[in-house]
Amino acid sequence: MSGIVRFAPSPTGFLHEGHLLSALYVWAAAKKWGLKVHLRIEDHDQSRARPAYIKGIREDLAWLGFHYDSESIQSARNAIYEAALQKLLAKSLVYPCYCSRKQLLAENPQSDTGEIIYQGKCYYRRQPYKASDATNAVGHGRAEWLGQERSDCPKTSDESTPHNLRFIVSDKVIHWHDLRLGDFHENPKLQCGDFPIRDRENQWTYQFAVCVDDIDEHITHIVRGEDIRNSTARQIALMEALGRTERPIYLHHPLIVDENNKKLSKRELAHSLRQDKEAGITPEALFGRVCHKAKLTETDTPISLQEAIALVAHTLPSPLPSL
Ligand SMILES: [Zn+2]
Repeated sequence: MSGIVRFAPSPTGFLHEGHLLSALYVWAAAKKWGLKVHLRIEDHDQSRARPAYIKGIREDLAWLGFHYDSESIQSARNAIYEAALQKLLAKSLVYPCYCSRKQLLAENPQSDTGEIIYQGKCYYRRQPYKASDATNAVGHGRAEWLGQERSDCPKTSDESTPHNLRFIVSDKVIHWHDLRLGDFHENPKLQCGDFPIRDRENQWTYQFAVCVDDIDEHITHIVRGEDIRNSTARQIALMEALGRTERPIYLHHPLIVDENNKKLSKRELAHSLRQDKEAGITPEALFGRVCHKAKLTETDTPISLQEAIALVAHTLPSPLPSL
């Protein structure tokens, strides 16, 4: 079969062990399922991306021996995101939200992962109030927000007041399948509510840029860490609104954990592969170490890249999943 899987690091730091494990999964999927690999540099957050880290990603992948077939960088794709936004605006699936961080925290419930579940205040306050709405309140605060267009909630055309743009998710359960974790039934309206596609600083958000890219770059297989699994249903909703008809195949891989089965700390993740390289550690030693930490091997004996990829490929389902 043919298809494309992507490796998509953010240049907000140098690559670390977590990235290396993710790369092994992506390249193992490519090998096992006969896919091309696309490198996407996710620098949508211009306040945190640095040219040195962008250069670092390419250099570190070359040093480790990961070769890819194509490459893109989000900061060069503004016109594509703008066109996608226009598509959503034409379908009336976007509205401006003027809520401050403080208001968002005070007025909306949070999920158990601490994520705000936006109740649609800036949507509802632009809707005309009908008597039936008072008895028809579906969300927290909905009835009292209806028709409440005040000075702190300007018209869409008001670009001078800081606001984000939210995508309207429909209130429905999305069924999707993960090749490793099984079936999920999730309603993004209950997971996060209408979510930002452009932030208050006019930057495209991760969720939006990733969906536009996955469509535009014809990504067929999404292999990424299970820390992002939670984003899948909302990304499916957004991709469908943008016109994608065939869903990608998903596999969320396990993350590296410490001896107590805890996620690696910020400090451990801040330790870069480049620091190891400068300390004279070989790629083979790193592959051995990461595969051991990912419980793929009994010991941390150095292994080649091909051996590491084969170990991971062994954990992936076969025969080839098809679209
Ligand atoms: Zn709002």
